[in-house]
Amino acid sequence: MKKNKAIILGCLFLSGIGCSSEYNLATNQQETLLIGTEKEMKIGEAVARQFDDHFTISDDAALNERVKKVFDRIVAVCDRQELVYTVKVIDEDKMNAVSLPGGYVYIYKGLIDKLDNDDQLASVIGHEVGHIAARHAIKRLQGSYGYMVLQVLAVGSGNANVAQGVQTAYLSMFLAHSREDEYEADRIGIKYMKEAGYDVKELTNVLKKLKAQEDKEPSRELSYWRTHPHLSERISYSNKEISGELHFKDYLNIMGNDEPVR
Ligand SMILES: [Zn+2]
Repeated sequence: MKKNKAIILGCLFLSGIGCSSEYNLATNQQETLLIGTEKEMKIGEAVARQFDDHFTISDDAALNERVKKVFDRIVAVCDRQELVYTVKVIDEDKMNAVSLPGGYVYIYKGLIDKLDNDDQLASVIGHEVGHIAARHAIKRLQGSYGYMVLQVLAVGSGNANVAQGVQTAYLSMFLAHSREDEYEADRIGIKYMKEAGYDVKELTNVLKKLKAQEDKEPSRELSYWRTHPHLSERISYSNKEISGELHFKDYLNIMGNDEPVR
């Protein structure tokens, strides 16, 4: 009942936005857009503001410069050049990275500290930019999360009461990706790494590092394996994608089934 009401409210709100269809170069699909790019940028901006308030952003100039350099190289080759991209480092000893609609990427310092080189950093950034290019968060908002769109947009319009209601739990839900989204972000990230001249094999090494940490540490709010699940399968698929063994048929299989391809 509550959910229905929320969806109706969301639809009412969305009905004023209009609907268009566009070919997405990142996903290679024709996509129906209820939330256009301009609205997406506003949503991203509103959530980014929450992030900036909630987390301590690193002011380490050398670190920021290093991250920005890799970020700029990936963004320069990505499929959505109409967005303005921003990257920030969250000054916490946690292994995670998140992307927001509209071009915002946040990487935890704890993850960067564990990386061996810039190719590994590029694989983290490529994956996050992949989520943005494929509009993963926006597609979820267009679906069953209409109520959240309403909330976020209300935040954007300066409603303080609603703003207070947008807590970490909500952000965590907003950022959790499905298995299909994870595979797709890896595939797109690998493409961007190649085009930007990074060593794509390092993606697998990063996933292995994250998997080792997942095995050691229980799942916490906003830990990487909660927001970007299915690490074991991603290691195997990214290996295939990198070596060119993953064929179009396998890819359709991944996107269409719950069971992994064997
Ligand atoms: Zn992801």
